[in-house]
Amino acid sequence: MMQYQNLIPRFLKYVKVETRSDEASNTVPTTQTQVDFLKTLANEMTEIGLADIHVSKPSGYVYATLPANTDKSVPTIGFIAHVDTADFNAHHVNPQIVENYDGHSVIKLDSAGKYQLDPKVFPSLRKYQGQTLITTDGSTLLGSDDKSGVAEIITAMQYLLEHPEIKHGTVKIGLGPDEEIGTGADHFDVADFGADFAYTVDGGPLGQLEYETFNAADGRVHITGTNVHPGDAKDTMVNANQLAIDFHDALPEHDRPEKTAGREGFFHLYKISGDVDTADLGYIIRDHDRERFETRKQLFQGIADRLNDQYGTGTVQVTLKDQYYNMREILEKDMSVVELAKQAMMELGIKPDIAPIRGGTDGSKLSFLGLPTPNIFAGGENMHGRFEYVSEQTMAQATDVILKIIALNLKNNQ
Ligand SMILES: [Zn+2]
Repeated sequence: MMQYQNLIPRFLKYVKVETRSDEASNTVPTTQTQVDFLKTLANEMTEIGLADIHVSKPSGYVYATLPANTDKSVPTIGFIAHVDTADFNAHHVNPQIVENYDGHSVIKLDSAGKYQLDPKVFPSLRKYQGQTLITTDGSTLLGSDDKSGVAEIITAMQYLLEHPEIKHGTVKIGLGPDEEIGTGADHFDVADFGADFAYTVDGGPLGQLEYETFNAADGRVHITGTNVHPGDAKDTMVNANQLAIDFHDALPEHDRPEKTAGREGFFHLYKISGDVDTADLGYIIRDHDRERFETRKQLFQGIADRLNDQYGTGTVQVTLKDQYYNMREILEKDMSVVELAKQAMMELGIKPDIAPIRGGTDGSKLSFLGLPTPNIFAGGENMHGRFEYVSEQTMAQATDVILKIIALNLKNNQ
């Protein structure tokens, strides 16, 4: 593992800037704090000597280029990270540093000790014996997701700019907004980016390498009832609430997030509201397998059709919208992108940890836009809340992996 002087100061500076995204906003990016932070990153990338730094419209991503310093023709690699943080308090992030963690003590986050990182609750802590951990103070998330990725990418670029004797092909950087609310990559301009393939540096612990995500759809159900006086309701009333219950009951009982793992898909009822007149259900539908995913959507629509046969056309209206697809469908056509990351980790003595994600990444969309983009680790643990933490050593190792991927890309193509 190499020492990078600027990596941790850079990360600590980034996490103190509030950059939460906002699902309710209609602007792109969804919050001004992200726009401002992306501007400071653009300035920083200018200062360290990257080229062609610009905001790509309409996505709001900031793109930068590390020009090749070799005549050899090698594919152009991209590295991508997101600047927004998850749906949790991110005001006044106050990172705490635990040096030389012993691997078994309880770490108090706030001074009162109300929130703690306890290895009995979070066994992952045991892996970090002897390492330096960065935690929250219990009142906010940390934002290691994905400011670790941002800091690692920029630090790797700085390293190459300071070591011109290390030869490399062209490298493209993309730092973007709104990943956490699932819209950031929607408007990504692949042609403007100009890479042949890319990696999101947005994974969790050491070794994580992901190229398989869910196929994902959003399913809305709108039910229109017939509201009459309950006393005279016989054979007349259609209670929208009751139909909502009937609809949900018709879905397979075990295909729920709380009852599934691994490659098992689900229907997740995330929103419900209603009265006798109308009722609304909000679902997300997930499956790694494309065929099973399509079958799930048919089943969903089929329940509505059956209820409509019974209660009249238009009683139950279903709207299904695909959100993203399993990037494996694209990547398995040419596994060299995944193999390159695997090889880089193995040459650095890091064991690749490959598992299907029960979610999506920006890469799920980018891969289908023509930019194959698996996800590699950035280091964070317990992401999206106050128990988030990251090890300084893992962040240095993630930076090592970025540099190794770039080096192997040249070596493998000679
Ligand atoms: Zn992330």
